[in-house]
Amino acid sequence: MTKDCVLVINCGSSSLKFSLIMPQSGQTILTGLAERLLSSEASITIKLDGNKETTALVEPYDHQTALSQLVSFLYQHKCEQRLLAIGHRVVHGGEQYSKPELISDVVERTIEALAALAPLHNPVNLVGIRASRQAFSHLPQVAVFDTAFHQTMDKVAYLYGLPFELYSQHSIRRYGFHGTSHYFVAKRFAELTDSPVDDINVITAHLGNGCSVAAIAGGKCVDTSMGLTPLEGLVMGTRSGSLDPGIIFHLYKQLGYSIEQIDNLLNKESGLLGISQLSNDCRTLEQAIAEQGNEQADLAMDIFCYQISKTIASYSASLSNLDGIVFTGGIGENSSLVRQRVVNRLKLLGFAIDDSANTDTRFGKCGNIAKSSHRDCWVIPTNEEWVIAEQTYQLISEDN
Ligand code: AMP
Repeated sequence: MTKDCVLVINCGSSSLKFSLIMPQSGQTILTGLAERLLSSEASITIKLDGNKETTALVEPYDHQTALSQLVSFLYQHKCEQRLLAIGHRVVHGGEQYSKPELISDVVERTIEALAALAPLHNPVNLVGIRASRQAFSHLPQVAVFDTAFHQTMDKVAYLYGLPFELYSQHSIRRYGFHGTSHYFVAKRFAELTDSPVDDINVITAHLGNGCSVAAIAGGKCVDTSMGLTPLEGLVMGTRSGSLDPGIIFHLYKQLGYSIEQIDNLLNKESGLLGISQLSNDCRTLEQAIAEQGNEQADLAMDIFCYQISKTIASYSASLSNLDGIVFTGGIGENSSLVRQRVVNRLKLLGFAIDDSANTDTRFGKCGNIAKSSHRDCWVIPTNEEWVIAEQTYQLISEDN
């Protein structure tokens, strides 16, 4: 059987998402999710050829158990013989990694050291890497970093107004996240507009549960809204995004919050959820606005959209040309309300939306939703898994 697939692994603290992808065409052969890991309710769902199979996991209900189950499934369905390599999503690559890396013991240790910058993500990514290196010891494993695409930013964009030694000695700077998604949609934008990727000047908005915007000049990232952590920038599902740092001292000193409570407040109780007091889910808020005229939900959506427009407009300081903007992510791909509210505030930059194209371009459709004779405004579904498979394949092909 031909070896023609990459297994892509995205490991969370209690979940493991995976897909088997043909890297050159992007065709997905198999997808699946192991969830509620580390609890007795742990299960794994695998979808192959339209058939979905969910199995309860046995003790110790961990990532290794999920991978063993996946390996058995792959053998059973003769997919194992098609595997070329494993590609892992790794959240933080620091300044060490500006491109994908073949995983060795040294790389594993570097990802571990970078956990200081991403304590919620890198350790769980490593759990997946270690389990997978055991399960697929005969195959090359590649790390694809969420931060890598943003490594082309200049100091002017990535340094904070803090004492310089916090950067030089402690690596505190803007890194940015969602890099694989911004890279993918920028590349697709180039293909769709028939331009060489090195010539495109575009602003990409990845709007999902986490949200970020990136300014891309000549195909390279020059600025992005997330920072040292994914908390900075736009208002998100449950994250506050940027705020006056003085609020943290106020919460601590005047209102008696502990550091853990502030962390929880800003990461899990704020954003769309905190403002609406209803939900972090854009669909629920849209429904509440449409069906009940819910004012708090409407306000949350307005603040959310205003911050996106404002950040996009601020990138006129980062770019000397602008070919268009791109919406992607669960909200960017599906919410015509959000796109309309964002673009309506960008008239000064020459943007206007075509209402029927905006309503029609949802649920996986791709297209330019701009009014004619206005700047391009694209909806492009993202595909981070494909990027990971493609980059893994490229790296192992170079290596051979
Ligand atoms: P993601 O993190 O990319 O999966 O995106 C999740 C977000 O996309 C949630 O806020 C969802 O409510 C939102 N979303 C998904 N489908 C729709 C839809 N049809 N309309 C509006 N928002 C949607």
